[in-house]
Amino acid sequence: MDFSRFTREGGLKPRRAVLDDCFALDVRAWEREGKLIPRTAFRVEWPERSAFLGVSVDAEGVVLLFKRLGDGYEALPIAEERLRVVRMPTPFGGAHTRFICPDCERRVWKLFAHEVTFRCQRCLGLRRLSGIVSKRERKAMRLEKIDAKLRIFPGLPVAFVTRKPPRMSLRIFRKLRDEKAALEAEGVTRRIGHGLAASPNILEVNERIKRMKGAN
Ligand SMILES: [Zn+2]
Repeated sequence: MDFSRFTREGGLKPRRAVLDDCFALDVRAWEREGKLIPRTAFRVEWPERSAFLGVSVDAEGVVLLFKRLGDGYEALPIAEERLRVVRMPTPFGGAHTRFICPDCERRVWKLFAHEVTFRCQRCLGLRRLSGIVSKRERKAMRLEKIDAKLRIFPGLPVAFVTRKPPRMSLRIFRKLRDEKAALEAEGVTRRIGHGLAASPNILEVNERIKRMKGAN
């Protein structure tokens, strides 16, 4: 149970819409499955949301014949929406199959329906749920990245970072060290299970940290 989605009063917080909430069409998968044969039709289903779509294929692309998209879309009238499909030859004799987004005309292999019509991810302006991380998590990720750049043991406190990695300018080295110090002062720590694995002499470093803390 994800309690973060509930308000203190027990109501459900309105979460900002994400790409994962949308109905998605994948033209690459249709091509792979041999569905894009002109003058034929097929059905796309989202059984978990009791929604489906009829797709007819012609020479220029596909026509979405009818929609019965669940989750509030039940009342939609039967509509026709035309989507252009293009095949771009690849240097090795194959072809890339792409939709043309009806709004921006970019070539994309996936279109998403957030409200009624299908558009590309950029036109919808929606991100994937996995792309939305907390501020704290983003800081932890930054700390991990700095540790990797400084080529130190994961989680080694900044006080022990004295050696500049080869080929790094002194200015960058100081900047990274200052940034690491600021993050550590804020209480940011690495995420568990992320970053480089500890090398055998991490124990030695832990001992040094303990001794240093004991000396203070
Ligand atoms: Zn678009």
